[in-house]
Amino acid sequence: MKCKTCGKSLSKKLHFNREYCDECQKRARKGYYFPKMITPELEKKLLRHMGKLNRKQLSERFKISIPTLTRWSRYRGYTLAQQRYSKKLIKEVISYYIKHGKIKTQKRYPEVKLRSIIEKHNKGVCPRQKRWTDSQIFEAVRMAGIVTLKKQAEYFNRPHAHAGSITSLWNKRFNAKGSYINGLPKAAIRGCVTWDMPYYKVKFGKGVKHSGYCMAFWKDIEKHLKPSVSDVIRRGVSAMARFSEYLHGKENTVKNIIELIEEREHEKPKRFSDKERDNRYNKSKQNI
Ligand SMILES: [Zn+2]
Repeated sequence: MKCKTCGKSLSKKLHFNREYCDECQKRARKGYYFPKMITPELEKKLLRHMGKLNRKQLSERFKISIPTLTRWSRYRGYTLAQQRYSKKLIKEVISYYIKHGKIKTQKRYPEVKLRSIIEKHNKGVCPRQKRWTDSQIFEAVRMAGIVTLKKQAEYFNRPHAHAGSITSLWNKRFNAKGSYINGLPKAAIRGCVTWDMPYYKVKFGKGVKHSGYCMAFWKDIEKHLKPSVSDVIRRGVSAMARFSEYLHGKENTVKNIIELIEEREHEKPKRFSDKERDNRYNKSKQNI
């Protein structure tokens, strides 16, 4: 017994009615089977016209339905896409693009759609954007939520990449928002910490009326947690504090964070606590 499509001899363990080998059966179940109506002669003709005509033209010319054509191409591993440009032209355009850039290339080849050539036929040779390196990703995590996106993009200085590239790094690579990696905003943590908890005014964050928010860093939160706080929160906070030790160094963690902000943002973040604010308020009351 032999397989009907590939011609391999079938093992005797299989059912006596079996027509296909395991691989061919799997492919057939997925829709990968060879259409019977395509004879070897027809296949030769199809190969000659493939790429020059599109699907519809091929099916009209040889009187085969489009699904049959797709099935055949999928089985053989071909693409039915029409090739707009000759291989010679594509090579020319890409080599010119690498030397002279986008604007000059478009001027020289005005009839060509440049973007389709660069993205489709130029995989990995001269990409439009560079890949993030490991050390860059580490720096991005260190700056997450405390340095503005614009300043982060300026620091990395990647070609054709601005503030939006940082957001897309978080969306695509990490699949998360990085705002709370280094700490929590005051509004979120205020109930769990004592009054002498230090906050820092950070510029990160979008807002029409205000720019940035008051940030509490994880290492500080761990020290200033109220005794009544539940164990679950305590464990979570200490895990984040260990992570921020990993990011910014085990000793002087908060000091290092502030130095980082000062270096990248060119401005020292303001420090304050609710206790100081209350003292000031009480003093002003006494004066009256
Ligand atoms: Zn087979």
